[in-house]
Amino acid sequence: MSLEISFMRDGEPALKSPSPSEDARLTDQWSRVRARLQREVGEVEYRTWLKQVEMAGIDGDEVTVILPTRFLRDWVSKEYGALITALWQMENPAIRRVDIRTRPPVRGTAPNLAEPNTAQTEPPSRAEPGGTQPRRTDENPFDQRYTFESFVVGKPNEFAYACARRIAETPATQGFNPLFLYGGVGLGKTHLMHAIAWELSAKRGGKPVSVAYMSAEKFMVRFINALRYQSTLDFKNELRSVDVLMIDDLQFLIGKDNTQEEFFHTFNALVDAGKQIVVSADKSPSDLSGIEDRLRTRLGSGMVADLHATTYELRIAILEAKAARAGVEVPAKVLEFLAHKITSNVRELEGALNRLVAHANLFDRPLTLETAHEVLHDVLRAYDRRVTIQEIQKKVSEHWNIRVSEMSSARRSRNIARPRQVAMFLAKQLTSKSLPDIGRHFGDRDHTTVMHAVARVTDLISKDAAFAEDVELLRRMLEN
Ligand code: ADP
Ligand code: MG
Repeated sequence: MSLEISFMRDGEPALKSPSPSEDARLTDQWSRVRARLQREVGEVEYRTWLKQVEMAGIDGDEVTVILPTRFLRDWVSKEYGALITALWQMENPAIRRVDIRTRPPVRGTAPNLAEPNTAQTEPPSRAEPGGTQPRRTDENPFDQRYTFESFVVGKPNEFAYACARRIAETPATQGFNPLFLYGGVGLGKTHLMHAIAWELSAKRGGKPVSVAYMSAEKFMVRFINALRYQSTLDFKNELRSVDVLMIDDLQFLIGKDNTQEEFFHTFNALVDAGKQIVVSADKSPSDLSGIEDRLRTRLGSGMVADLHATTYELRIAILEAKAARAGVEVPAKVLEFLAHKITSNVRELEGALNRLVAHANLFDRPLTLETAHEVLHDVLRAYDRRVTIQEIQKKVSEHWNIRVSEMSSARRSRNIARPRQVAMFLAKQLTSKSLPDIGRHFGDRDHTTVMHAVARVTDLISKDAAFAEDVELLRRMLEN
């Protein structure tokens, strides 16, 4: 241990910069990583999000890259963290982690030391679980809580549930292959996929059924790693040897043409061999623009099942089930209160209930409506404040004196297009809507148009103080 430490720090002054040749080597590696990144995500996404990524340096097995704003940092880290890590590893096998952060603010003329204040204004970016830090061992990917027994069935999800059951019963039945599950965030797609896997593994005492489950992001990372180790054949063979392949959150592959291509071939090979495929996404196959036509067609060629937004009845039923599982007694009034207030998705509903239960346990107090109000104060306030895209469009139009209908019109003159872009930007920041969703509210525009708008406005904000003030003002008005 001590050997390792002394080896790493041996005679190295803390702030030593890399030697010129090392520097050149890193610059080289970085430019190759960039080039690959560009090829992998496509020109539009690259220019919108990734062009501004700069390399800050390497320390041991960690590369640090920086972005100019928090917004970009969060976005890049969430959407591309795993990919950037994989590409770096391809280039330099010693790399284990990529830290994505913003440049620490420069304060006056004070020496640029690691002052505690800096840490306060800019906490280090969180490592994405399973994201920026690739796992070396494949543990069981299935969550024990996600079974058919724990899934509460109601009108909005009964069809998807029935389809999932059917596949767990008899995989690769005619007409059910592939099974395409889609719906908004937190409505139970992943839960159902895991449930299928548990059921298959539990039931077939005799013949083991091999199930491969991974997020589309993981699929891409594994594919890129396979390219790196020149082991694509192994990767293919491994995938093609399973009985059931499940890919979660397929929308991640939008615009990632190489990976889509690979998935398409795997898909065909498996279906031809009579194996079952289950895919989830946040949109129906026909709405997945950015996924190649022939793949979309194939995705929609089996059974397509939609998970709808929850109803009040379903929310109550879910809350009752979860409370019972947790072994706590929650008064009906409290459950009703939660089901009324938290309508977005099951994950948030669950989160609120867990918080209440934890609080009650911690303070050994009975759960009452008052405690619920108190404990969930901040959550509920966020709900009350939730802004709609319509409100944003209205406020922005008023501000620049244009008609609201222009938000959806095809006109592209600057005095119309700019407010429209600002509205898209604010929609991205203030609502939880996805890019395609936002696009739809603006005359059915494509998600790449929204991406451009966000990037454009971000850029203008950093260059034009008056404009930045306008946007900030609008944001504050909308948030109140
Ligand atoms: P998605 O993959 O669609 O984003 P998840 O499957 O991760 O959503 O579900 C989010 C959370 O909500 C999980 O903890 C899951 O167990 C829970 N959940 C969703 N739908 C149900 C349901 N019908 N019954 C019980 N729990 C549910
Ligand atoms: Mg999911």
